[in-house]
Amino acid sequence: MMRKLVFFIAILMPALGSSEPLRVFVSVPPQKTFVEKVGAHLVEVHTMVRPGHNPHTYDPTPQQISALSKTALYLRIGVPFENAWMERIRSANPDMRVLDNRTGIDLRSIARQEHEHHEKNDGHQPDKARDETRQTESERDPHVWTSPPLVKQMARNIRDALAELDPPNRLVYARNYGDFAAELDTLDRDIRSMLKDISNQKFMVFHPSWGYFADTYGLTQVPIEKEGKQPGARALTALIEQAKREQVKVIFVQPQFDKRSAKQVARAIGGRVVPIDPLAADYADNLREVARLIAEAVQR
Ligand code: ZN
Repeated sequence: MMRKLVFFIAILMPALGSSEPLRVFVSVPPQKTFVEKVGAHLVEVHTMVRPGHNPHTYDPTPQQISALSKTALYLRIGVPFENAWMERIRSANPDMRVLDNRTGIDLRSIARQEHEHHEKNDGHQPDKARDETRQTESERDPHVWTSPPLVKQMARNIRDALAELDPPNRLVYARNYGDFAAELDTLDRDIRSMLKDISNQKFMVFHPSWGYFADTYGLTQVPIEKEGKQPGARALTALIEQAKREQVKVIFVQPQFDKRSAKQVARAIGGRVVPIDPLAADYADNLREVARLIAEAVQR
């Protein structure tokens, strides 16, 4: 009996010694949720763009940069602050793995719907040559996490990255991934059934964060923001005309952004402004609520 106990302690000790969690940094709060689903107690996840901050303009704090020194993995997602900061993030810790969480995902262009709208509505032709040469990082829509099927691919990337950094626990990561993938399937089914009667409908947003969500569920987002800026007077008038024509009653806004022009459009159409947050950490519940609000907004 005693010998058995000693034996158990002997094999447990090294396991406990090596169980310090892997430190992972991510760019936005939903990614933290995803890494914690797959990594559970084996990871310690930090978010660069802290809650309430805007991933388009964020500046990491000196404390965050120094915390990178003990970090095993950085999962980027392509949000604009990364363009300015990625080199400094990498050089803060050359041993840290930096992976793109969007690997394996077909990226949409963020300007697509804006330009279609632009051409149709105010007669101004965007410079085609300039558009083609600008198919750069900043042209691709980074908001991939708003689509649950795409989050499955993000979760596969997370599983593979963690398994590679920590091979002894690869089966734990695989099992956690399986559970999370099943949750995402349920979420996807729930949203499909909530939105089944409103396919092909348009919803108006200030900042175009919901393109992948819209693509997945057969909807179209109409953004007010133009290439990251407040629209000019002429564009705003065109949007108000379009909103009236299409009987838009709700303008969705994102808490991290200025709401002035959204309120201006809402006032002009006798509608209202409703906040929906693509950066919420409670991913599944938040997305169900977003689907409910969109369904409610576009119902005639
Ligand atoms: Zn955004």
